[in-house]
Order: sequence, then C-alpha cells, then structure tokens
Amino acid sequence: MIWLVEHFYSIQGEGRFIGKPSLFFRFGGCNMRCEGFGCKERSPSGEEVVGCDTVYAVDRSFSTQWIPIKSAQELIAIMQTYELPLGVDVVFTGGEPLIYANETVLAEFLEYLVTKGHRVTFETNATIAPDFTLHPAFSSCVYALSVKLENSLEPRGKRLKPEAIAAIAANAKEAFFKFSIDEASIDASLDDEIEEISSYAPNLEIFCMPVGGSKKEIEKNTPALVEYCKERGYTFSDRLHIRLWDANKGV
Ligand code: SF4
Repeated sequence: MIWLVEHFYSIQGEGRFIGKPSLFFRFGGCNMRCEGFGCKERSPSGEEVVGCDTVYAVDRSFSTQWIPIKSAQELIAIMQTYELPLGVDVVFTGGEPLIYANETVLAEFLEYLVTKGHRVTFETNATIAPDFTLHPAFSSCVYALSVKLENSLEPRGKRLKPEAIAAIAANAKEAFFKFSIDEASIDASLDDEIEEISSYAPNLEIFCMPVGGSKKEIEKNTPALVEYCKERGYTFSDRLHIRLWDANKGV
C-alpha cells in the first residue's frame, strides 16, 4: 500500500522541464524532515509542524488527509478522470516517492506509464536507488536529484548517499541535480558541498533554486542565487508555481 497526498494537472514549476504541462502525483512520507527550511503548517489536529515546503506530505500527523492506494489500477483510474494530451509528462513527487520503490503498486503504475509513452520524472532526495534490474521501467524515467544540503539541518550521513546518486545517474534515462539554496548559505562551504555531491555523478547538469514556501521567501532568496549561478556556471531554476500561485499545494 502506498499513500497519495494529492494529484493535480498543472505546469512543472522547477528544473529542466519548467513550464511543461504535467500530471503530478504527490506521495506521502519521507525519510527526512528538513526542518532547516523552516516552513510551518498546522496539522489536522491543530499542532504547528515545522519542515520543508511540503511538510503536509512528510509529517505523518497529516496522514488522515492522505489517500491509501492499494493497486496500480486505482492510480490509472485517477489518471483517467483528467482530459490529458497524449503522452503528457507525469511527475512523481512528495514527500519522497522512492520510499515506495519496492512497492508493486508503484512499479506496475510506472510500467503502465512508460508503455503508454509518458515521460515520468521522479523528484527525489536521491538517498534511495530503485532496483533497476528487478523493475526496468525505473530506467526509462528522469530523476531530479534534489540532494539536501547543510541548510536542511539533516545529518550528513542521512542526506548524502553517494552510492544511491551514482546508481541513479548510471541507470536512469536522464538525471540532473536540483539544489534548494537560501541566500544565507551562499559561501565557500556551499561550493565544497556542491562540488562533492556532483563528483558522484560528474556529468549531470546542476540547477539551483531558491528556498521558500511562499512568493515572498522565493523573491528574497533569488537575487543572490542568480549571481551565484552566474559565477559558477550553474543553471538557475525558478519555482514558477510558487511565484504564480504563492503556494505548493495542488496547483
Ligand atoms: S527530503 Fe524533500 S520532501 Fe523530504 S523533508 Fe526534505 S525537502 Fe521535504
């Protein structure tokens, strides 16, 4: 069984495919918390929870609002409620979608999407590599490797799994790095972190996007990050959905 938090048809707001019409499936649960991002939200029981901009898809106190999915057919049925262009992009996000990498439900749905010609992108923290041999459909996907940095406040050993990064980069159809950066963390140690992480998959393009769960925060973190990208030759990624709708939910 896997948890689905929400599904929506929108445009991709981040990374290499920014602006592409995409059907999003946001899965519930994550192997990290990333309290360093400092986004706050009220849980269904009224308690304040701190975490990343999708804390409602991470913290189990929100699970009363999540949908239990027991078969790939249920996800296919959800898809069929939309009027979608042929072969439209599909994005698996979260939370961390790859916590379900060994679940038959996810593998079967993936097989269906790949067979139908959809480009599937996993938005992942890159700490879990799927079994590419057991489920070859994972090799037909794109991976946005959003490896967490020191600013997430997660312990290094938890957020950095070189073997998972290398395995995904070696087996995926396509992958790229996508780092969340706030202006306060732009210093020499950031260079060291990015250089080390990218050494595990040296040929991947590096996107840097501003930290923030609101338009105000994104705007605050953007100017310094644009300058940083210009200096280092990295690609700046906006977070278009937040800039347009000032939210990260269901748009
Ligand atoms: S890894 Fe991603 S989804 Fe999980 S807590 Fe961190 S930012 Fe949120």
